[in-house]
Formats: sequence, C-alpha cells, structure tokens
Amino acid sequence: MAGMSVQAHSLATAEVIAVGSELLTSLRIDTNSLFITDRLESIGIKVVAKAVVGDDGPSLSTLFQQALDRVDLVVLTGGLGPTDDDLTRAVVAEVLGRHCREDLGIIEKIQRRFNARGLKMPEINRRQGLVPDGAVALDNPNGTAPGLWLEHGNKVVLLLPGPPNELKTILQALIEGRLLSLAPSNFHLCRRILRITGRTESNVEEIAQPVYSLWKNHATPVYTTILASLGQIELHLTTSAETLTVGAERLEILTKELVAVLGHSVFSTDGSTLEEIVGNKLVERGHRLAVAESCTGGLLASRLTDTPGSSRYFDLGVVTYSNQAKNNYLGVSPDLIVTEGAVSELVAREMALCARTKADVHAAVAITGILGPGGGTTQKPVGTVAIAVAVSPEPVSRTFHFLGLRSDIKFQATQAALDLLRRELE
Ligand code: ATP
Ligand code: MG
Repeated sequence: MAGMSVQAHSLATAEVIAVGSELLTSLRIDTNSLFITDRLESIGIKVVAKAVVGDDGPSLSTLFQQALDRVDLVVLTGGLGPTDDDLTRAVVAEVLGRHCREDLGIIEKIQRRFNARGLKMPEINRRQGLVPDGAVALDNPNGTAPGLWLEHGNKVVLLLPGPPNELKTILQALIEGRLLSLAPSNFHLCRRILRITGRTESNVEEIAQPVYSLWKNHATPVYTTILASLGQIELHLTTSAETLTVGAERLEILTKELVAVLGHSVFSTDGSTLEEIVGNKLVERGHRLAVAESCTGGLLASRLTDTPGSSRYFDLGVVTYSNQAKNNYLGVSPDLIVTEGAVSELVAREMALCARTKADVHAAVAITGILGPGGGTTQKPVGTVAIAVAVSPEPVSRTFHFLGLRSDIKFQATQAALDLLRRELE
C-alpha cells in the first residue's frame, strides 16, 4: 500500500455499516445510514450497499473486509464509545493491519469536556483516545469520541460515533470539505418535489408513469419516485448534472409535462405546503378567512396558522361540536340539523355562510363529519365528511368518505377542505 494515496475525485461508491446490537432489535431503528446516504449522494458518491451488525467482532470484521473489497469508501457508525461492547475501532484497525496508539490530544479534550461539567473523566474513556496508526481524528463538538478518517491505499474508511447529533455535525463538515474534494467532479444532484392531492397513488402512477418513464432512459436521466402519505401524493424527481442550472432546467421540463397530464391536482411544484399555497392565494385576492369546524376539532385552524404570516388572512376559527353550539355560535337552524342531519352538505354550507357573516370576511370553510368508531349508519358510515367552501355568493360543497383512525379521518378532512378552498380561489 505504501506510496498509494487517495486521488482527487476517486470516491465513486460507498457502503455504510451501522454497528450496535440494539439496532437489530425492534427498539431502535438505524436512522444514521439514511442521513449518511442522503449526504453522500448529494455530492455524487453512490451508496451501493448498507448493513446493520451487532456488537460482535467476527461478524463486523467479515462485513468490513467485504465492504473494503467492494467500494471506495466505507462508512462505519456506532461502537466508538468507551464501553466493552464498543469494538469498531479495534476491529477496523485489525483488518487494516494497524496498531492503535493513545492520542494524548484527544484524551485531553475528553478530560476538558468532563471538567467543564465539574466531573472527573472515568478511566475507561481513555479508550476513546485510541487511534489506529495514520488515522486523522475528526473533531466532535457534541460528544467525547472523535470521528476517525483512515486512508487505505486508494480507499477511505470513515468511523463516526453512533449518537445521531454527533454524527451529523462531523459528517456535514466532511461533506463540505475532505469528502467533497474526493467526490466525483462536476456532479450536482438536483431534486424537485411535486405535491398532489385529490387523487389516489395508483391513479397518479397510471397517469404520470408514461411521462416520467421516458426520462428514465434518457442519456441524461431523471428518476421519479412516488411517495404516498395521508391525503397527499408526492412525486420526487432527481437528476444529476454538470451544473445546478442545467439540472434545474431538465427538471423544469419534466415538471411541466407532469402538470400537463395531472392538471389541477398538482398543488405545489416548489416544495410549498397546501397551507402555504392557500395562504398565498388568499393574500393575492385580498381575502380574509373564517373556518367553522365540527369533527376536525380545530385542526384546520391549527394547520392554517402553522404558516408564518397567517394573520394576514386568517380571521376566525370556531369549533362547534354539538348541534346546540352550531346554533348558538353560528346560527345554524336547529330544524335544518334535524331534517338533514348534522353531517350533511346543507349543514356544512350553512355553517360556512354563517361563519362568513359572523366574521364579516370574504371566505369561509366548514367541516362536519363522523369520525367513529361508533355513530355511523348505512347511509352515513364512519368517515363520512361534508365540507363546504363559501368564496362566491353561492357556496360549494362535497361529501367525502375517508378511511382510517379518527386522527387519519381528521387530517384527510382538513386536507380536502384546504384543497376545495384552493380550487375555489383559482
Ligand atoms: P458513545 O460514545 O455515545 O458510546 P458510540 O459510537 O459507541 O457512542 P453507540 O453507543 O453505538 O455509539 O450509540 C450511542 C447512541 O446512538 C445510542 O442511543 C444508539 O441507539 C444511537 N445510535 C447508534 N447507532 C445508531 C444508528 N445507526 N441510527 C440511529 N441511532 C443510533
Ligand atoms: Mg456504544
């Protein structure tokens, strides 16, 4: 290995090994490798495999040896602590054929950390000052064990502490420094997120797939992934390009093609949330908003006020849960509730109109529904939600049928209400 060294732009592939027996139980999830993967890919280093291994020397040794044979960069996380089960440092040193020596500079730093808290450094913490020959210690401002950078021929081995906040700080510094200069040159990862509501995942896939699949096989490919969450589908577009501008232009073309086929159900192409989009539209139109909620218990008002600057358009939110409250505070006629039922489009429309009048604003939204598990009927099963939006003189309304737990139905109802409002403001 003597004489060989890591060349600029030579790290193309990486493997991540998360060490810790707790990560093999159902009690702890290995989140570090997700962060590591995200950061490495942002500078063009491709993660080709990852592994989780317990605090077991022979298993770690084998895995590490295999990774070293396969990829340019091996990142290990966890097991750098002072206790007996922390063996990453020793195993790596052994596989690489290096001796470990005590680094007094590191030990002094650890001692100072303990002293600053009025404590004496336990003797076992000296182990965290053990460094394989040739390793560079990476400053860990949030903890005791430093990260370690080792070069082995034309390969790099990186040891990072397990606690996520410690790892993140150390890795981010490398991503902007040492690792960046070794990462593939002229590489820029560009991403764009399209957000969609009011369609199912399979419907989005059916419509979008013929468009995005063509881009996957381009000479300069764009990759698309679909992510579904409650009441919302996201299309994540990624491409790599020699400059950010070139990448952004490519994503802009695909974005336009996707919006052309998916239409109005795409509410955001720049990362903004549904609440923000609705807020911007209200500001543009100079409208102020009142909301009257029943089953969502204030969630709609809460979501609307999550956006900074919402005082420019949010005026009133009332939760009228009982029939009596719908009458007392909004003025919804008790007869209407009796004849139509509290969960009905006519009641929702009346709630919206009354809220709009009471608040003396331009726009109002009302939600009334059945969360369950009890209270459903054949005609109005659990999950039935009536939503009305009053922007024009005549309100619009729709009935939805949502599935899931109470909290799922509440969220989906607010999502549908925000979307109905967005469409009315367009
Ligand atoms: P320490 O110096 O704190 O002992 P360490 O490098 O030995 O650091 P571990 O003891 O393995 O790290 O883990 C410390 C903490 O970080 C634990 O709470 C552990 O669950 C968490 N942790 C370790 N590895 C991961 C991982 N891959 N993803 C998320 N959390 C992790
Ligand atoms: Mg540990």
